[in-house]
Amino acid sequence: MSSSRLAGKVALVTGSSRGIGRAVALELASEGADIAVNYLTSTDAAEATVSEIEALGVKAVAIQADISDAEQVDRMVSTVVEELGDLSILVNNAGLTRDGLVVRMSQNHWREVIDSNLTGTFNCLQRCAKHMMKKRYGRIVNLSSVVGIEGNAGQANYAASKAGIIGLANSVAKELGSRSVTVNTIAPGFIETDMTQELPEDRRQMILNQIPLGRFGSPEEIGKLTAFLCSDDAAYITGATIRIDGGIMM
Ligand code: NAP
Repeated sequence: MSSSRLAGKVALVTGSSRGIGRAVALELASEGADIAVNYLTSTDAAEATVSEIEALGVKAVAIQADISDAEQVDRMVSTVVEELGDLSILVNNAGLTRDGLVVRMSQNHWREVIDSNLTGTFNCLQRCAKHMMKKRYGRIVNLSSVVGIEGNAGQANYAASKAGIIGLANSVAKELGSRSVTVNTIAPGFIETDMTQELPEDRRQMILNQIPLGRFGSPEEIGKLTAFLCSDDAAYITGATIRIDGGIMM
């Protein structure tokens, strides 16, 4: 274990079967937190993440739930509390893309992205906030994107969902501050995951040329920032949106 800033805490990380969520789950576990690994379809990958977390000497459980469905979220949160005994950290990470130019975007692709990314974040946040308010302690970290701040051609649905997360998070930060629950948002640039693997090579090169640090970020770098925001070292930070993007937005 690298340090134990999160010893005794229980964290729910949505979409942690792979990618950024998996790295966040492993980082929080390495700091001592017990982890609920939420996923949608990747059962084997979620079980593998659980095994890796357990090898770090903390408890972990995999929970299948579609975060866009409030009833499934309800069940998931009850399972976390039953099986791990508490819930003091929520990382709203799960998300998806359905890219296309706005004039050709189908209602389905609009809805799918808003339902998963924005309504899904709302569902988890609302259910977990009730628990945290009673306990008068909590840490909520949401994954937005630089695209939610700047917009991006071909991603109107995704950008709208990620901008919505910032407004949602800041409002909830104001509502929950008096209960010692902090709510912060991370806005990554381009991070090496399945999501960015889908980019055509020429587009990857074009993006790399715009990043002052000259590389994509790693999921582990998002994990480290999330662990900091969940720790007592960040107790006076709430309602912040932190870009972690290699400088692409300067
Ligand atoms: P990823 O590799 O595509 O993984 C997505 C994760 O979300 C998977 O675990 C997936 O579960 C889960 N998921 C998707 N929809 C879900 C739903 N409705 N209910 C429950 N779980 C669901 O994505 P990533 O690149 O790691 O991105 C993670 C987050 O960071 C996303 O919110 C993304 O928008 C944000 N982000 C990523 C980047 C980047 O460059 N990669 C940049 C900025 C922001 P299954 O495995 O079961 O399908």
